[in-house]
Amino acid sequence: MRDDIERVLIDEAVIQKRLDAMALDIERDFPGGTLVVIILLKGALVFAADLLRRVPRQLEIECLNVASYHGGLESSGKVDFLDRHFPEVKGRHVLLLDDILDTGRTLHAVERRLLEEGAVAVHTAVLLAKDKERAEEVNADYVGFEIGDEFVVGYGLDYKGRYRNLPYVGVLKPSAV
Ligand code: 5GP
Ligand code: MG
Ligand code: MG
Repeated sequence: MRDDIERVLIDEAVIQKRLDAMALDIERDFPGGTLVVIILLKGALVFAADLLRRVPRQLEIECLNVASYHGGLESSGKVDFLDRHFPEVKGRHVLLLDDILDTGRTLHAVERRLLEEGAVAVHTAVLLAKDKERAEEVNADYVGFEIGDEFVVGYGLDYKGRYRNLPYVGVLKPSAV
């Protein structure tokens, strides 16, 4: 797997250290009461597992399957909700976790749906945010790292379902694509 990586963008120790700070911010910003955390599968899985273990408060954890990329390199421009059931969020404060903010379509669509379902407030946290124009007006409340506009894998992010288990974020060699 390492052979397919052209360059490591954010190494493991740097990610882990940043998560300490993000967890403190989240802990500080949310008042008491149980927070509902929604993890967008599958990309946010690794990020969520490491982040949430650092947040010492009462959480309810839910997962949502949405698709916008369909496994390739380009956003399809449409967000599909793939689950039969939607988490119960009426009257709740929600923290939404995703791997990366790219065009913004995913977070925008999910946030809108959560509010339609009666969530009191939706905050969003992403590991990565690409420095680019968004197709949708959306800003994450917590951002691990700002990166350039290039395709990255690792630490939850895939290319055709692979590379999610890399402990760092990196860029693929052209030969691996
Ligand atoms: P958006 O809806 O903001 O355009 O894209 C969000 C989703 O697209 C992310 O949750 C992620 O699944 C996928 N995505 C966007 N940029 C990248 C990237 O650089 N690498 C990978 N592996 N997935 C990406
Ligand atoms: Mg995703
Ligand atoms: Mg993907």
